[in-house]
Amino acid sequence: MPEFRDLDFELVKSKMRNPIITDSKNMLDAKEFNDEGFLYINIGKRVQLQGSGPEVADVNLSEKNEELGYSVALVGDKVNFSHIIGIMKFFKIPFEVNPSDLKRRKLIIFYRQYPHVLKKDLNPVLYIPSQTKEFRVFITRFNVRAQYVRQWARLKLGLRNSLPMIFHISSLYRFSGPIEVLAASTSMPLLIRVLRTNVNLLCVDLIEEISKFFNERLNLKPTTFFKFCSHLRLSSIFPRGLGNKILRQVTHASISLDNYISHMNLLDGLRYLFLAAMVISAQVPFRTLGFWKKGSRYAATITHDVDTKYGFNVGIGLLRDIERKYGVRSAWNIPVGHYLLKREVIRTLVSEGCEVGSHGTRHNGQLILLDEDELLKILRNSRLLLGQMGRCKVKGFRSPLLQHSNIILEAVKKAGYLYDSSLPAWEAYCRTSEGSHGIGTVYPLNISEDLVELPATLPQDHQLMYLGGLSPKEIFKLWKILKDHIKSLHGFCNIIIHPDKDLLGHEDVVSYYEEFVEEFAGDPHCWLTTPSEVAEWWALRSEIEVTPKGKCVLSSGEEINNELEEAVDLIEYKPSDFVFK
Ligand SMILES: [Zn+2]
Repeated sequence: MPEFRDLDFELVKSKMRNPIITDSKNMLDAKEFNDEGFLYINIGKRVQLQGSGPEVADVNLSEKNEELGYSVALVGDKVNFSHIIGIMKFFKIPFEVNPSDLKRRKLIIFYRQYPHVLKKDLNPVLYIPSQTKEFRVFITRFNVRAQYVRQWARLKLGLRNSLPMIFHISSLYRFSGPIEVLAASTSMPLLIRVLRTNVNLLCVDLIEEISKFFNERLNLKPTTFFKFCSHLRLSSIFPRGLGNKILRQVTHASISLDNYISHMNLLDGLRYLFLAAMVISAQVPFRTLGFWKKGSRYAATITHDVDTKYGFNVGIGLLRDIERKYGVRSAWNIPVGHYLLKREVIRTLVSEGCEVGSHGTRHNGQLILLDEDELLKILRNSRLLLGQMGRCKVKGFRSPLLQHSNIILEAVKKAGYLYDSSLPAWEAYCRTSEGSHGIGTVYPLNISEDLVELPATLPQDHQLMYLGGLSPKEIFKLWKILKDHIKSLHGFCNIIIHPDKDLLGHEDVVSYYEEFVEEFAGDPHCWLTTPSEVAEWWALRSEIEVTPKGKCVLSSGEEINNELEEAVDLIEYKPSDFVFK
C-alpha cells in the first residue's frame, strides 16, 4: 500500500528474523531493498523479461577456484533438509544450514524457500524443485517453465573407474525456456542451468525421492499369508530345502546378475546424483572423506548364519579350516534356542579372533510380529547368553529371514548392540513380504547415533541356490562379479554364507569357497575384517568432520590424533568425474 512507502525500513528489518518484503504494488526498488539485506518479493508483475535475466553473478571459474575453502549453505527448513544433511555427512562435505551470511559460499542450495531477488555477489546456486507455488513463481523470473511429471525413470551414473550405479526416480520436472542441460541420463535431463547465469536447477525433487525411498524400504510388511503360516508354525513342518523348493515353484523371483546390479545401488545412485549436482553446479572440486582407512579401496566381511544343528556341529569346522589357512576372521550369527549349543565351539571361534553375533532365539520368522517389549527381551537375552558362552562381548545382530522394521531396529539399539545386519542391499524374494526388498546401498548406514546398519550387500546363498537354481560354482561366479562392482564403488562387501548341509557347508563345495576366500584375502586393496570392526570404524568416521579448508577434526571438538590423521583419506571430485549414461 502507498502508505507503506516511507516506513522506517531499518527498524522493520531489526524486528524481523528473516527480513522479507512482499511488494504487491511494484512501488519499491528491488535492488535497493536487496542491498539493504531484505528478501524482496515482487508479486505484482513479472519483473524479469526475456533477454535481461535476473541479477546473478557471472560464471568465473578462476575466481571460484580461490573460494575452494568455503562451505555449502543450505537455505530452507532444517527438517526438510534432513536427508540432504544425511548425504552431506555421508560424504563429509562442510555445510551450514541457514547461515546468517550467504557470501563467499562454494554453493548455496535452496529448497522450498526460493529467493526472489538474487544478489550480484551471490555464489553458484542450486535449486531443488518442489511442487510449491513459491517454486513456480520463482522460475518464471528466468522465463523458465516447469512441468511436474509422475514418471518412473531408470537412471545410470558412474564415477571415474567405477561401474555405473543404476537407480530409479518416480517423478521429475521438465523445464523449458532459456536453459542448457548439464547432466542427463538415458536422455532424461537431471540438472540444467539457466543460460548466462550460475543458476542451476535439479530436475528431480531428490528430498522427496529419498524420503519416499526410506519410508517404503525400512519397514517390511508381513503379508496375511505369512502371518497365517507363521501362526500355524508351518515353517517348522517343512525341512528348509523342501520349503525352498516349494517357494521356487510358487514365486516368480527373478534371480539374475542384471537384477542385482539394477537394485543394489538404488539409494547410492540418489546420493551420488546429489553430489554430482553440487560439484557440476559449483564448477569446482569437492573434497570428500574416503569411506575406509587410507590404502583400503573397499571393505569386506564374511558372515555365517548358523541355522541348523549340522551347521553348528559340522559346517563351522569345514569352513573354518579354509578360513584359518588364509588368516581370515569371520562372523558367526547363532540362534540361541534353535538347537543345542556347545560352549567349546563358540569359545574356539572367539579365541581365533572370529566374532559371534546373535541370530535371535528360535529361527521361526516370528520376530517381525512381536511387540517392542517381546523383541527387546529376545534381543537382550540372546546377546547376554552368547556373551556368557563365548566369554565375549556380542556386538552384532542379524534377524532370521532378514526381517527388518523400525521397531526391530529400535529394539536392536536398546538391547545394546553396536550394529544390525538384517537389511539386504537387495534381495529378489522375501518370504515375509512376498516381494523383493532392500535398502539399495553398498555402504554402512547410520540408523541412529548409536546404531550402524551393515547391509548384507551380496545375495544370500540359499536365494541363489533355491530360488535361482544356481550351482555352487555359479553362485561364487556371481558373487565375484558383484564384489568387483562394489569394489569399483569403494563399497562394502558383506557376505552371508550358511554352513548348512544343503547349502555351502558341504565337503563337495568347499573348494569353491576356498577360491572365494583367497580372492579377498589375497587382494591388497581389500580390508577383510569382522563386522564389528567395520561398525566401529564407521562410528568413528561419523565423528570426523572435514573443515571447509580440508582439515579433519572430531565433531566433539577434540583434536584428531596423529594416527587417525594419517589413516584418513580425502578424495576430490571434479565435474568430469561423474559419468551419466
Ligand atoms: Zn538364518
